[in-house]
Amino acid sequence: MSTEVFLNEFAEISEHPYRILSQYKKEGKKVIGVLPYYAPAELVVAAGMVPMGIWGSNKKTIAHAKEYCATFYCTIAQLALEMLLDGTLDQLDGLITPTICDTLRPMSQNFRVAMEGKLPCIFLAHPQQRKPAFGLQFTMDQYQHIKTELEKIAGKTITDDDLRAAIKVMNKNRAARRAFVQLANEHCDVISAVKRSAVLRAAWFMEPAAYAEKLEALNAELAKLPAADWKGKKIVTSGIICDNPKLLQIFDDNKIAIAADDVAQESRAFRVDASEEGDPMMALAQQFADQDYDILLYDEHSEQNRRADFVVDKIKKSGAQGLVLFMQQFCDPEEMEYPYLKKALDAAGIPHIKLGVDQQMRDFGQASTAIQAFADVL
Ligand code: SF4
Repeated sequence: MSTEVFLNEFAEISEHPYRILSQYKKEGKKVIGVLPYYAPAELVVAAGMVPMGIWGSNKKTIAHAKEYCATFYCTIAQLALEMLLDGTLDQLDGLITPTICDTLRPMSQNFRVAMEGKLPCIFLAHPQQRKPAFGLQFTMDQYQHIKTELEKIAGKTITDDDLRAAIKVMNKNRAARRAFVQLANEHCDVISAVKRSAVLRAAWFMEPAAYAEKLEALNAELAKLPAADWKGKKIVTSGIICDNPKLLQIFDDNKIAIAADDVAQESRAFRVDASEEGDPMMALAQQFADQDYDILLYDEHSEQNRRADFVVDKIKKSGAQGLVLFMQQFCDPEEMEYPYLKKALDAAGIPHIKLGVDQQMRDFGQASTAIQAFADVL
């Protein structure tokens, strides 16, 4: 298959995730909704079910969810609930609700109350202190709870061998995404900002093994192409999510390529693999402990501003000239971390802009002006 055919397929899935959800159901598969962040998809795969990421929606309007949510909740959380209430996600067999931020914690209870008797909602509390032995034990206990609940839905026991096989699948899936991000930078003439986002977004909706296989095939095609002779600009993106094709089209229109990202829905989600050796539950707990440089996670070395330095280093290594921060409205963790990121970027002489975004954004005029002006200073 040609590069273009692969890209069209990923775009179709990214644009219409509910079609693929229906397809899985027709095939007799059980599908588990997985809210952000850091839910162990491996456990869903090990149970023989399909994990389906739920990251809100750029197309829907918040209506029903207003009854349950404070107005200052981010739109990602509100639209996730909206899709559960308006029937979009009726075909799910269960839902995992992590509680990593101050919005998701109360939202997990809203999901539970709103879905009472209709959909099993599996609560997941990650520990603040994820690295010491007691933190690892806490994570394992939480994952054990998820495993038990998933077993009830799947009607099967998850063995250690099932879990080891699932870890292999997810490691392969993450490796393919890491390779793609690198290739997208080298071939940014072919992989536009819109296409890059669609490929990475599709990962949340496809069966992980099938996605890895398709992406490996696309990567092989990309590797055959000559490196781009790119005359435009390059940036690194940062934030929780930047998957709105209309917003990304502005980057393509201004010849701005995405060299790398520090985005929760993209690279932050596939940086770290789990060990394929030893106790698989411990391997998953250790994988979560090994996640670093994320504003959502406690950093015992926070006085060193390691996350900001990590982002600066990423910009330098990727050959980008600046950073675009997609700041989700009402996202406290991102807002609170911004001064530290700005300080590091300013110290390194790296230009950046902060774009306020949410999933109810319909008018891109202001963003377009800001991005155009930013392209001129790069
Ligand atoms: S966007 Fe921010 S506030 Fe909303 S769920 Fe994510 S981390 Fe929490």
